[in-house]
Amino acid sequence: MKLEQARELEKRYIAQVFSRLPVLLIKGKGNYVYDDTGKKYLDLFAGIAVSSVGHAHPKVVKTLKDQASKLMHSSNWVYSEPQLELAETLVKITGMERVFYTNDGSGAVETAFKLARKKTGKTQVISTEQAFHGRTMGALSATWTEKYRKPFEPLIPGFKFVRYNDVDALRDAITDETAAMIVEPIQGEAGVVVPDADYLRMVRELTSEKGVVMIVDEIQTGFGRTGRWFDYQRSGIRPDIVCMAKGIAGGFPMGAVAYRGMDFETGQHGGTFNGSPLACAVANTVIDVIKRERLMENAGKMGSFLLKELSDKGIRGRGLILGVDVDDGHKRSVELIRRGAVAIYSGNTLRILPPLTIKKKEAQYIIRLINEVA
Ligand code: PMP
Repeated sequence: MKLEQARELEKRYIAQVFSRLPVLLIKGKGNYVYDDTGKKYLDLFAGIAVSSVGHAHPKVVKTLKDQASKLMHSSNWVYSEPQLELAETLVKITGMERVFYTNDGSGAVETAFKLARKKTGKTQVISTEQAFHGRTMGALSATWTEKYRKPFEPLIPGFKFVRYNDVDALRDAITDETAAMIVEPIQGEAGVVVPDADYLRMVRELTSEKGVVMIVDEIQTGFGRTGRWFDYQRSGIRPDIVCMAKGIAGGFPMGAVAYRGMDFETGQHGGTFNGSPLACAVANTVIDVIKRERLMENAGKMGSFLLKELSDKGIRGRGLILGVDVDDGHKRSVELIRRGAVAIYSGNTLRILPPLTIKKKEAQYIIRLINEVA
């Protein structure tokens, strides 16, 4: 299939909700992806911060093949080994007590809200301005952008927004009815907005004092992208709930919440595909690859290098979640495609979210590209 045909078919048959870049990707290998003409691109977005260990990683491919031949699906009527192994790992790396598996990020956010209601018996949730937490009804209720929300109102009642990076605003917004506060350690979809270094710690102190459940949305920042397993770990805090997805299984669709001090009772939550043997086996391998190949360390190092070398471009972020403001995000993304790199944008911010496996020479290439387009 060629790009032109793909465009026509998409227009005719697929929900018209995505604004796609003009590229038809056919395959990926490591830090590179290839289009229908065989043209090679440096991957600067990793399928929105997902393909963290690069494309077609041999260990991930092997696990997929092996587990698919063994047992792809079993449901939660029975026990599953990969699921148990992953749960133990996630509890260890998050410092939480238990996990619930979902199939994506929105599902993780929905689960977090149900847990917070269950624990507190309250219904108010505080989110932040410019936040993105997903598009299902609960997650959308915590998402800021008017255009995403308006046609679907009424959303879930009890949601309020406070300024991001503003603990005083949060203090003013908390009432006796507040169940939870949900926050991204770095706002990704908003265009890579980094709060002050002590923001999360102050949010934790305040929410602890007021008995409010603190939900950290690590869906975009988690699994090594900012140089640690989860970005909240930089602040030395323990949230009550951690939402994760995207990088968890390197491209296999999956999400999870890890939490402590609360739980559901039998039947109160669930799903047919949650924590499938295949998804969990792949996640186990991805986590192992992140450890063995020291990808957190690499993300931190490459991120610092890019931040330093592109400081005159006003680059911001941490590790390999970076943003650079340009005159026109869409136009510059298209220009990058012409030059052999795929990056996404939020408004006029180019977002740089490559696999965590990029090397120095690729980082140097990114610097050259950004200098050319920004
Ligand atoms: N939270 C954050 C911080 C995200 O970046 C996203 C996805 N961009 C979501 C939630 C929703 O995840 P999903 O698209 O997998 O439902």
